Amino acid sequence: MGTVGRCRVRDPDRTVVPSDDARHRGVHPARLARLAQGVGEAFVELLAVLAPVECVCCGFEDSALCGTCARRLRLLCARPFRAEGQAPALLTAEGAVILPVVAGGHYRDELAQALLSFKHLGQGRLASVLAPALGKAIRSAVGDAAGVCLIPVPSSNAAFRRRGFSPVHLLLGRLGQRGALPGLHMTDALKKAPGPGSGQKGLGRGERARRVRGSMTVRLSRKRSLEGRACVIVDDVLTTGATLAEAARAVSSAGGVVCGAVVLAATRPPAGSDQPADGLDTQPAPTQTKNK
Ligand SMILES: [Zn+2]
Repeated sequence: MGTVGRCRVRDPDRTVVPSDDARHRGVHPARLARLAQGVGEAFVELLAVLAPVECVCCGFEDSALCGTCARRLRLLCARPFRAEGQAPALLTAEGAVILPVVAGGHYRDELAQALLSFKHLGQGRLASVLAPALGKAIRSAVGDAAGVCLIPVPSSNAAFRRRGFSPVHLLLGRLGQRGALPGLHMTDALKKAPGPGSGQKGLGRGERARRVRGSMTVRLSRKRSLEGRACVIVDDVLTTGATLAEAARAVSSAGGVVCGAVVLAATRPPAGSDQPADGLDTQPAPTQTKNK
């Protein structure tokens, strides 16, 4: 089972050990100030550990996600469904599907709250409930197919700097560690291309789509491993579909055979969303891979 490479998760336990040289020299006032600041930060972290933890959904003092809300979240993700019908960037003007997408659940209630909190705080308890929900959606999309590449959508550089981790990489990494998706290979093939791809907040839909186009590229080191391979793009939330379409474009142009995408949550319920996911066609078929 492959693992998600370059999963750049910040290590909270990492501490900086001063060199012998620094230990033996006299303590300079500026160094003292830095030391005081370091102690202050450590104290804040200690408080966060000791303070009672509240459920991010209902506020009940238990853990980051209480048992009741965790059960509700699992129910919300019990029946993955096809979600591309509500994403304009994934349909032609005539309504034909450019890229099929399976969603784990609707972006609402406990799923929305837990996902939002997870993206901001990256709490382990939330990941332990969200990762299996994503895994279920992936499994319902690819069925028993083996050898499919799962390709996470990269965070924008700004979001990565802000959070210190990429939510979808973290969830896929967790599934990989637990061997939850045997036969599927997670490949961290995409990266953000330099340029005006980031900073989409406050932009209209059209401008947003234009900015997204050309914003991703396949890492040179991964190109060969994608050629002719069945690929499924994985992201956390589906909104307009512009990001997934761009990821699919980048993978296709590198020779990957994009069969579809999987998201943990879709923002608006598409018509007929009671239909369970009918899976993606993961048999490489070059004629259907051209995503514009
Ligand atoms: Zn709760």
